[in-house]
Parts: sequence; structure tokens; C-alpha cells
Amino acid sequence: MIFCPRCEGNGVVTKYLVKRIHVCVYNCDECDMVWREGEDISQISHKSLDDLLEKNGLEISMSEIEPLGDYWLIWFNRSTEQFAGKQKLANISRDLLRTLFGKESDDQMIYVYTVRRKYLHDLEPFIHVPVDFSKYAYFIELDENIGGKITAESENYIRDFAQAIAKADAADRKESV
Ligand SMILES: [Zn+2]
Repeated sequence: MIFCPRCEGNGVVTKYLVKRIHVCVYNCDECDMVWREGEDISQISHKSLDDLLEKNGLEISMSEIEPLGDYWLIWFNRSTEQFAGKQKLANISRDLLRTLFGKESDDQMIYVYTVRRKYLHDLEPFIHVPVDFSKYAYFIELDENIGGKITAESENYIRDFAQAIAKADAADRKESV
């Protein structure tokens, strides 16, 4: 995940395709700033998505843009909370993810989602590694730059993961009694 330099860890920057003009932009979900490809995302931008859409005669709507990048399965060691591995979920559809995670049909699915044991059946065709829920907590994330960057990102991010793991554990325990 890439964080917005203006929103200090709250804004998530995602790569999108502006569908009707075939232009790629990076957009912050909090402040609406955009960067064009090649621009430095660690620097504050002075352009907004609304302006870009308006200038191109497009509707000011998230339906004009579609997230780019791949979905990845990533896993963290439950006891050390350290990043432990990743695998690209090739050809997984956004619709399947929306259904699994109970999201609306217009949800862009750009965040991190906690994988529960009960989702494994539907995810099985896409997962090519052994899964061990007792050792690892699994998440699905959209990101074209995933991997080494994860642990180097903000402490908030890691803390959020730890909280998500604890929540997933609690939910799984509840289900198993
Ligand atoms: Zn922002």
C-alpha cells in the first residue's frame, strides 16, 4: 500500500485507469489528489481527480476510473506479526472478492481484506501454496508494488495488521465453538 504524503497515513494511493481516455493516474482516496505516471508520489501533488475528469469532459464520478494492479494473497506470522510471504492471485475477479468480503457491487476493492478459513474453498483455485491458519494470518491486498515494501511502510500499517489478525482469530474461535 502506498500512503499519501498529504494525508499522513490515512490516504491510500491506488493506481487507476481513467477508462474513457485510457490514462493511468494515482489517486488518494482521502484528499482526491492525483499523480500522473512517472510523478513522485512522495511529493504533494496540486492536481485533483475532479479537475482531471472535468477537463476531459467526463462525469465527476468514481465510475469513470477502475483500479489497476493485481490482487495478492499475503501472509503474516501470527506470533511474530512479521510479513511471511505473498502470492499473486492471478485472474481473480473483483466480483468474486466483493462477494466473499460482502461488499457492494460498486466497491473498488482497493484495501486489505482479512481471509477467513471459510473463504478458502472459493479461493482454492487461485492459491498455489500450502495454507496453514494455525501459523499464519492471511490477507488479500491490491497492490502493484507489494512485497519488500510492506514492512518498511508506516508503523500504523503494521499495527492495523496486528489488530486485523487479532480480530480474525477472535472471529474464528467464536465460530469453532
Ligand atoms: Zn491524500
